[in-house]
Amino acid sequence: MLYPSHIEISKSALKQNIKFIKEFVKEGVKLSSVVKGNAYGHSIKKFVPIAEEAGVDHFSVFSADEADKVLKVCDTCTDVMIMGNIDNEDLGWAIEKGIEFYVFELSRLEAAIEAAKKKNIKAKIHVEVETGMNRTGFEIKELKKALELIRKNQEHISFEGVCTHYAGAESIANYLRIQNQYKKFMRLRKAIEKEGMRPRRYHSACSAATITYPKTQMDMVRIGILQYGFWPTRETFIHYVSKHSEPKEPLRRVLSWKSKVMNVKKVKTGEFIGYGTTYLAQRDMTIATVPIGYSHGFARGLSNIGRVLVNGDRVGVIGMVNMNLLTIDVTGCSNVKKGDEVVIIGKQGELELSVSSFSELSSQVNYETLTRLPNEIPRKIVD
Ligand SMILES: *Cc1c(COP(=O)(O)O)cnc(C)c1O
Repeated sequence: MLYPSHIEISKSALKQNIKFIKEFVKEGVKLSSVVKGNAYGHSIKKFVPIAEEAGVDHFSVFSADEADKVLKVCDTCTDVMIMGNIDNEDLGWAIEKGIEFYVFELSRLEAAIEAAKKKNIKAKIHVEVETGMNRTGFEIKELKKALELIRKNQEHISFEGVCTHYAGAESIANYLRIQNQYKKFMRLRKAIEKEGMRPRRYHSACSAATITYPKTQMDMVRIGILQYGFWPTRETFIHYVSKHSEPKEPLRRVLSWKSKVMNVKKVKTGEFIGYGTTYLAQRDMTIATVPIGYSHGFARGLSNIGRVLVNGDRVGVIGMVNMNLLTIDVTGCSNVKKGDEVVIIGKQGELELSVSSFSELSSQVNYETLTRLPNEIPRKIVD
């Protein structure tokens, strides 16, 4: 492999996570697999087919370009939904491809109806309503107009859903806000039903809401982080185990990130290691370089504090993380040599380095660490 590191995607781990999620949600609740941000760094191209193998047939993305990437690798009967950005000029394309998309403003709804007329194919829309996140979504007055437009143009619209998103269901600090959002959503739902409108699905829950507030599951859950084997926050995990008599981690990490030792050398007491003077050897040391740097997504903030696994030991990053490489202290390790496997995220023997330990040290959240993994790192599917 030409690239200095690679990412492994575990099929069996994904299968286990999907199975857990499907068993956790109430009966009849549809699972939409969220694969925005290049499938949270796992790569849409590699992830979508194995998710389908694990039983997924609905994917959610943020933008039109991501929907295009999913369509290029998914089964013809799989559904794709855009939860965020699509330009009006691309609506015709989306309609032709059968892509579902959110509408949260009248102008987009009007443009979608126009495009559907032109193509003579129904536009598959999800009406996003404002419940308190204050990002996107119809306010009640606009919603009435939107419903009217939908009713008038029934032959051009397939009314797939009504939806919202919670402003931080992963933290108990937001409890009241989430409850208020849920109540507002239910009120809007009643109003929609009173108008005699029947969307195919109501949906509101992300991973955290699915676990912490099961009533938010409704007809479909949009699950991102959980399927990759991570809890949205530690709080969500604690909530889960506190409700189960046999506290056991039901998830497995899907992704591992590995490289190899590039060089090993000795350094004498009193020498500085790497750029500048941030690390002073206080004894004779053996150090190794690893061809991973901040350009590959290893945060520069992990200089002198990051950890990696090599030869079954957990060792520290010393000195500054460079653009393309980092240096580790292997003084206490037995016989580290060029070519030895280095694990940046994942397991080696009995030890495991989690994305969250990595993230906490660099003050990134799991989501950020994962999605910053560059697309160029080769992804390899393993069992
Ligand atoms: C990202 C996203 C999700 C999934 O969030 P997770 O916390 O990863 O489960 C669900 N819904 C919307 C609208 C999103 O943007």
